[in-house]
Amino acid sequence: MGFLQRLFGGKKNKKPYVDTRGIYFYAQCDRCGSVVRLRADKEYDLNRESGGFVWHKTIVDNRCFRPMPAVVHLDTGYKVTQQTIENGRFITQEAYEAAQQPAGEPE
Ligand SMILES: [Zn+2]
Repeated sequence: MGFLQRLFGGKKNKKPYVDTRGIYFYAQCDRCGSVVRLRADKEYDLNRESGGFVWHKTIVDNRCFRPMPAVVHLDTGYKVTQQTIENGRFITQEAYEAAQQPAGEPE
């Protein structure tokens, strides 16, 4: 004769979707000024290195297609510690979103 074992912690919490695996970067091309948004997947795109992670990415905008090789170093908390980019520059999310707005009418 036995007792049924009751399992705890079996509740499923449905949470709204949050992209916890993605890290977003924003860059702007030096030549044509196009802005690009990039997503790095913590699980698949980042390589481990001592003290954190490194992300290698050749960014290409969709206007002039000039490659912008970028390297981003992050600590174990996925905080950017160092970032370099050629042929362009990193910009803030705010700057990216502002650049998405339609340009004003020329006078
Ligand atoms: Zn460009």
